[in-house]
Amino acid sequence: MIKAWETDPNFKYEIMREPGGEHLLSCYQCSTCTLGCPIVEVGKELGFEYNPRKVIQMSILGLRKEVLSRPEIWFCASCQICYEWCPQDVRFSEVMGAIHRIAEREAEKGNIKIESRRPDFEHAFLNQVRKYGRQYEAGLMREFYKGRLLQMIKDYRKMGTALFLKGKVALFPDKIKNAEEVARIFERVEEEEKKIAEEAGKA
Ligand code: SF4
Ligand code: SF4
Repeated sequence: MIKAWETDPNFKYEIMREPGGEHLLSCYQCSTCTLGCPIVEVGKELGFEYNPRKVIQMSILGLRKEVLSRPEIWFCASCQICYEWCPQDVRFSEVMGAIHRIAEREAEKGNIKIESRRPDFEHAFLNQVRKYGRQYEAGLMREFYKGRLLQMIKDYRKMGTALFLKGKVALFPDKIKNAEEVARIFERVEEEEKKIAEEAGKA
């Protein structure tokens, strides 16, 4: 049962202030996104619940902590099917990006705990692009598995060896020309994110 005093009626506006979250209130709960989502099907096979329509409903109802703490919000594969199929142009994949950013800010403040390694993976991935202007797999693995060598061996025992033998994992970074311009794009994005976070703090 939802207790009104435990909800945050501003949560929907918080999402809508984030880039990508603007169309949240256009949702009329038709479930088309959920019916087309491949992760919903994976969840049925593996025994977890993933439901884009429900995430939107909970967000509009103001269940802020429940939404931000749910491990399932990190299962979205950003495949954009929901974006394409939605009759209301809600752009759920982008709404999910907005929810992710709010969750990461709350985790930094110690208000919630994110039960997923995905944010760490995404940061490690983007850090390589920022440094080299392209992906550097060995650097990504080093950063993502820092302090978790046994886990890395477990995860990559078979696939990692095959990728390495096929030359898909470069040992040394291959920086692109003008990588500094890519780094500048990251700086601009960080400045924008800082502004949004400051405005969110004032609201
Ligand atoms: S996001 Fe779009 S497709 Fe999904 S329930 Fe809302 S209106 Fe329907
Ligand atoms: S973008 Fe995410 S929520 Fe949308 S269909 Fe793909 S996996 Fe599902």
